[in-house]
Amino acid sequence: MNMYDSDLLASILDKNGYEKADNEKSADIIIVNACSVREHAEKRAFGRIQNLLKYKRERNVKIGLAGCTAERIKNEVADILPEIDFILRPNQYNKAPYIIKNSKFDISEYDTATYNGLYNNRIHSGTNFIPVIRGCNNFCTYCIVPYTRGRERSRDSDDIINEINFQYNKGVIDITLLGQNVNSYKHNHLDFPDLVKKILQETSIPRIRFLTSHPKDLNDKLIDLIFSDKRVCKSLHLPVQSGSDRILTKMNRGYRISKYRLIINKLRSADNKFVLTTDLIVGFPGEKKEDYNMTLDFIKETRYDFAYMFKYSPREETPASKLNNQIPEDIKSERLNNLINIQNKISFKKNFEMIGNTYEVFFEGKSKRNINENCGRTDGNKVIIYKGSIKPVTNVIVKSIKGNTPYGVEI
Ligand code: SAH
Ligand code: SF4
Repeated sequence: MNMYDSDLLASILDKNGYEKADNEKSADIIIVNACSVREHAEKRAFGRIQNLLKYKRERNVKIGLAGCTAERIKNEVADILPEIDFILRPNQYNKAPYIIKNSKFDISEYDTATYNGLYNNRIHSGTNFIPVIRGCNNFCTYCIVPYTRGRERSRDSDDIINEINFQYNKGVIDITLLGQNVNSYKHNHLDFPDLVKKILQETSIPRIRFLTSHPKDLNDKLIDLIFSDKRVCKSLHLPVQSGSDRILTKMNRGYRISKYRLIINKLRSADNKFVLTTDLIVGFPGEKKEDYNMTLDFIKETRYDFAYMFKYSPREETPASKLNNQIPEDIKSERLNNLINIQNKISFKKNFEMIGNTYEVFFEGKSKRNINENCGRTDGNKVIIYKGSIKPVTNVIVKSIKGNTPYGVEI
């Protein structure tokens, strides 16, 4: 979401007469778009801003903070980052030209922008995001998102179609419908599967994916839709967070492992190559060795293609941060490192199983390492480096895995 928002913000500034600077050394305005979901990432962003402040001593440059971190610290900016010039909260990007010009700390109202009619014109490749719902109502007990991004509000479906067509006309062929919880999209009697159907009918976009799906909202209507049309990708990011029902309940996730298992069994029995990725948190308050072992057993059983893995990070305001039985940092680190080791081996094996198979890939650009090779994306959202012609869509056979990247040739 922050990646899309950075581009949206840049597009709004483009329209208002600003131009992209070559680098931070020549910029008149520098905006750091920061995520508040984990403390570590936030601290890195603050460090980055401290570093950038040196330019203020050299020339007249304005430095600002954007993203959900700006929302989180809106009342404490003067203490945390006293030297910055402005903040842009996630619902204020349409006011960016005014806020930047007037060096504002506008903390007055909390409006609920959906950015209807504002499209991202910064297209970097054939792959791009389209936000369909903003905010979150789920209140997982560890998560700060509902507090920083507000309640769920879905975007008008015609506006979504217009932005997809706008991006398609600029060369985008693979879109990811975006939301903290895309499956709870609801607007004018359309639910999420209805929205996907409408996009299939009213646009020519060749590939559609969505991010993030919440297991509690992934119903049969959506599963049937995924398999009803080739343009809907056979891959899902389905965060499980923990393999222990006891921890899932404490997290307020709203599903049990048995329900989650049923979903992935359905997906995999319809397509045994269905690509599954997930998010995992270790060291949630009160996580016992047995709970952690259940997570390990579950990832070994499920064999995810890829996982984002995190140490639980206490976030102010959230219920979990107030629980007594917080796990010590060294145990969290040990559990995370071990989990990463196990999952990385699984991811490598999954990629290794691609050798000998042919994939339809969408060209994304030249390989960064070797200009004689291309970079393409499969329906399962895997990036393949391949030798061959430059065509928007082509078939590639995977020949080897280097590091963790599949290499192939066009056939
Ligand atoms: N809306 C999505 C993702 C939101 S944030 C979802 O519900 O799946 C992305 C991921 O960050 C989450 O899935 C979770 O794994 C992780 N995360 C969120 N809050 C966290 C916290 N306090 N500590 C560690 N990881 C966290
Ligand atoms: Fe956070 Fe849960 Fe909402 Fe995801 S579903 S954004 S983890 S509260």
